[in-house]
Amino acid sequence: MSQGDGERTGRATEALRGLPSIAAVTADPAVAEVASGLRPEIVTAVAQQVVERFRRAILAGEAGVDPDQVVPAVREELTRLLRPRLATVINGTGVIIHTNLGRAPVSAETARAMEEAATTYTPLELQLESGRRGGRMEEVSRLMRALTGAEATLVVNNNAAAVLLTLSALCAGREVILSRGQAVEIGGGFRVPDVMVQGGARLVEVGTTNRTYARDYEAAITEQTAALLAVHWSNFRIIGFTAQPSLAALAEIARRRGLVLIEDLGSGCLIDTAPFGLAHEPTVGESLAAGVDVVCFSGDKLLGGPQAGIISGRADLVQRIAAHPLARAVRADKTALAGVAATLRHYLRGDVTETVPIWRMIAAPVAALEARCRAWAAALAAAGDLPVVASRATIGGGSLPEETLESRALAVDAALAARHGLTLPELAARLRAGEPPLMPYVADDRLLIDARTVLPEQDDGVVRALAAALGVA
Ligand SMILES: *Cc1c(COP(=O)(O)O)cnc(C)c1O
Repeated sequence: MSQGDGERTGRATEALRGLPSIAAVTADPAVAEVASGLRPEIVTAVAQQVVERFRRAILAGEAGVDPDQVVPAVREELTRLLRPRLATVINGTGVIIHTNLGRAPVSAETARAMEEAATTYTPLELQLESGRRGGRMEEVSRLMRALTGAEATLVVNNNAAAVLLTLSALCAGREVILSRGQAVEIGGGFRVPDVMVQGGARLVEVGTTNRTYARDYEAAITEQTAALLAVHWSNFRIIGFTAQPSLAALAEIARRRGLVLIEDLGSGCLIDTAPFGLAHEPTVGESLAAGVDVVCFSGDKLLGGPQAGIISGRADLVQRIAAHPLARAVRADKTALAGVAATLRHYLRGDVTETVPIWRMIAAPVAALEARCRAWAAALAAAGDLPVVASRATIGGGSLPEETLESRALAVDAALAARHGLTLPELAARLRAGEPPLMPYVADDRLLIDARTVLPEQDDGVVRALAAALGVA
């Protein structure tokens, strides 16, 4: 052993001796204060885990391990255990379907339906009329049939699962023809060619990145072909010299050649987006009317419901998909099913712009957003003059890329933040750590809170969060 090693070992032994006993940690007033709501064994277990972490760090020769930090670390860990992490965040980002913030918040009626399903027994697989076993998909199937004409519908965990399951059930061991322009990555590692491999299908790419013609699909068909796949460009655009055959043209080929046309539609919009000043997002009904046999889409994007993957289309194919062994592994639970059904009822009644939060946000008039921002500013007058500025909100969640909605935001510029002793990143960090947490965004040297994505019932929260962060509470 070199002299340096000896010194280090000596220091480590000393540091290890400095670690407090478990009894000392749990008896420390700083720990006892937060431990009062917890079972004593839990407090002991957490203290042991933290002390062990410090011991390993010392033995590993990590610099700056301070035994005095054990008590604060245990206190912090216990505090975190008791604080729900997935409680409310106020979304001031102007991104309506914000994947990092959990995508679509659901309507009050949807939340009630999900709560009821979660906290009671439900006739999930029971026909109440006959007392016999019934399909768990009947309700959603009936609703989707009325809304889109889909013969049958199956709900699974999410759209990634819907696409994987559909390919596995209908195309395993066979070929699937896909345009090169649609061999895309959706995000979060969901790449269409990889999903195809996972589903056991062989990908046959046709055409080019920017232009693919109906004749390209036609020429690639062999006796090994099971399906043509269309993937919606959810989260990007290719503009300029482009060509892609219509769904109707693909459907015609599929029918003539005895193949299945599958579409991964992504968002699963059920209404026309054009009246809101947005580009037209293809709807589920349009896909089915064009002759798509099976369409897959998300529950928590433009549908505005809970996380789910929805598979709609021909009854014989949906049946085959539902019978695949993987269907059981990715099936939706009763709360998601109740939530999807409750969300679909809003479309049945035609009240989505008053009830479904993402559609309320999309439909909100600019004048109303301006008035809310002014009210926030007035309530925060003690913090200084906070201007209301024009902003652009986006749909997000891999839907309608490049499309923006005129909006209004409350702005805090760097000079005003400095008067409160903060830089803009420091102010943003305080807002994120606040109670309630508020997610703003920073652009053009200003911190902005976009009113379009703040739920109206959170207006007080915005004022409280800003007042606390700026120290004028
Ligand atoms: C979002 C999206 C997916 C993934 O859907 P999840 O519900 O997030 O699993 C798949 N395909 C397309 C085209 C999408 O837009």
